[in-house]
Amino acid sequence: MASTIAAIATPPGTGGVGVIRISGPYAADIGQRISGRQNLLPRYAHFAHFYDRHQTVIDSGLLIHFPAPASYTGEDVIEIQAHGNALLLDMLLERILELGAVPAEAGEFTRRAYLNEKIDLVQAEAIADLINSQTRLSAMAAQRSLQGRFSAYVDELLQAMIRIRVHIEAALDFSDEDIDFVSEHWVGESLHSILQRLDVLSLNAHQGQRLRDGLHLVLTGKPNSGKSTLLNALSGRNSAIVSDEAGTTRDVIREHIEIKGIPLTISDTAGLRASDNAIEQEGQQRARQALTQADHILVIGTAGAPGDLDELLQELPEGIPATIVLNKIDQQPDLMPAIGSYRGHTTISLSAREGHGLPLLLERLTGSQHAPLETPGLFSARRRHLHALDRVKNHILDAISNWEHAQGDLVAEDLRQAQYAMDSITGKFSSDDLLGEIFSALCIGK
Ligand code: GDP
Repeated sequence: MASTIAAIATPPGTGGVGVIRISGPYAADIGQRISGRQNLLPRYAHFAHFYDRHQTVIDSGLLIHFPAPASYTGEDVIEIQAHGNALLLDMLLERILELGAVPAEAGEFTRRAYLNEKIDLVQAEAIADLINSQTRLSAMAAQRSLQGRFSAYVDELLQAMIRIRVHIEAALDFSDEDIDFVSEHWVGESLHSILQRLDVLSLNAHQGQRLRDGLHLVLTGKPNSGKSTLLNALSGRNSAIVSDEAGTTRDVIREHIEIKGIPLTISDTAGLRASDNAIEQEGQQRARQALTQADHILVIGTAGAPGDLDELLQELPEGIPATIVLNKIDQQPDLMPAIGSYRGHTTISLSAREGHGLPLLLERLTGSQHAPLETPGLFSARRRHLHALDRVKNHILDAISNWEHAQGDLVAEDLRQAQYAMDSITGKFSSDDLLGEIFSALCIGK
């Protein structure tokens, strides 16, 4: 039998209300004994006193019983709403443990909800993402995943795959003759349709993952080109060192900001400049490393002199989108904020110090490469989901090719593999390691 777990669910500190949750077979019994109330009505807010072992009142508040299975965990749950004082809540929890509960581990309530099939793994992850979201947009996206939007798409595709596989397997098992691949053209069409829908799902998941993890933007460029000034302009704070002396940004400086609801981490790197100075060399080493971890690189140069950047452009890591910022247009009276191109990269001419042209840059950062992020239906997603979707796609591509070569048994096997990869997203098949990783990232009491 499962243990009965208990934890303080509200954050430590003082507040109007502090909540303790108890879940498991003895939850109702413990609820009755701590409050001295018998016959707890389901989902009714009972006003009650909570007593210690000497029958002294520790606190008073509300007590609610959620009988299994209609509760967050699917087990019997008692929720105690007392006053938000850490000492009182500790005393209450101590008493609850005396009455037979054990302290809950991080994320254990949600783990039980998952094990009791109240939610799938995507939803469990969405709960963590919802609690941790830093922007409104990412909170809303996590909420949509929690409501099951992502899982529903996954399920729809799964059903389509299963339909084809079952059909092929039945045909292989029960017919003496081979499958007539020509008259069964709906199978090929369905496979192509699955592939298309998979691409749409992947695109959405990519955006959801960007929303969750944020974009990592790395600034690089010649010393004194205005990287620190641009970082300050983007973040609206004065954290980077701005100075007239070349080479002052020696370490990688990070800022976390939000643009149009997207969390953005900006790293300002030391200019990649050959130097004899040991500290500067170390800074440049770190700068190179930061570049390889970027989602997008901003190369900062001076307006009218993009050629100064030629050497630097050759050093950029491959496969990471880069935009060239031509700064200080205010120094040249004939220049206006503008978008252009240089050596295959988009350029944006602006003035970081005066703020001219910044909107062009923001638009480029939030709306580039992928479809715009402000899609109302966006849901949150994680890297592991993207990898699983890639695996599914490869299996479907194999299935299409095998179908075209009239290899029915191989198609069935490809579909089985695709289904397996798809199921790993919602957690039908998942390793203990993965579960441990996901649930331990949640706080105690969730
Ligand atoms: P970094 O070495 O690339 O980080 O450059 P800084 O941000 O420290 O800027 C170097 C110098 O250029 C400072 O004196 C800034 O005030 C100046 N600067 C930065 N942006 C602009 C700009 O848009 N226009 C002008 N005229 N000066 C700028």
